[in-house]
Amino acid sequence: MAEDKVVITIGRQYGSGGRDVGKLLAEAMEVPCYDDELLAEASKRSGLCEELFKNHDEKPTSSFLYSLVMDTYSTGYSSAAFSDMPINHKVFLAQFNTIKKLAEEGSCVIVGRCADYALADNPNAIHVFLHADLQKRIVRIAKRRSLTDAKAKDVILKEDKKRASYYNYYTSKKWGDAAGYHLCLDTGVLGIAGTVHMIREFAMYKGKGSDWTTRCCEKCGTVCPPDATFCKKCGAEL
Ligand SMILES: [Zn+2]
Repeated sequence: MAEDKVVITIGRQYGSGGRDVGKLLAEAMEVPCYDDELLAEASKRSGLCEELFKNHDEKPTSSFLYSLVMDTYSTGYSSAAFSDMPINHKVFLAQFNTIKKLAEEGSCVIVGRCADYALADNPNAIHVFLHADLQKRIVRIAKRRSLTDAKAKDVILKEDKKRASYYNYYTSKKWGDAAGYHLCLDTGVLGIAGTVHMIREFAMYKGKGSDWTTRCCEKCGTVCPPDATFCKKCGAEL
């Protein structure tokens, strides 16, 4: 069954419905969804207190030593470098490690927490980024958290900034940059159910891209299958 494993990571702008999409998608796929649950899981596995995870969750710092952390990742938690490491780095590391393990265990949906980065080399992973028009997100957040529009906007901008700096800091990639994901969707246009549907469609087509190497016939311009020797329309040699 290993080849049927599908792990979907969801990066998301605040208020774009990423959490709801993750839950519904996981339900539809009949696989687990890791969001806040991931914190508990990570703490359980690393032996660190869960409270620390909540306090340090997705909060960036300015003194991150990338190479040190990556080095520790490969050598394990018992190394001296790990014991001397600031707690927020330990938290990141534990989550990074947990995400990799969860993805090895079976199909799942993982929302946020740089999961796409942790699973960059995982062939079963599909990395999604969800965004939506600011005005639509304001409406959503204002309603959900009983805020004025102005306050909701403030919260959204701050939260996005926090997520972006956390992501950019720990991953050396750019948060929300389309080229860093397989699929970027506008939840404000698609709605939650539509977004779930699109991600499932994407997953269905993934790995079936054998026509990636199709060629245009130089003579007539017809697109021919990758294994064709002659143009299917005019018969010219390809
Ligand atoms: Zn042709």
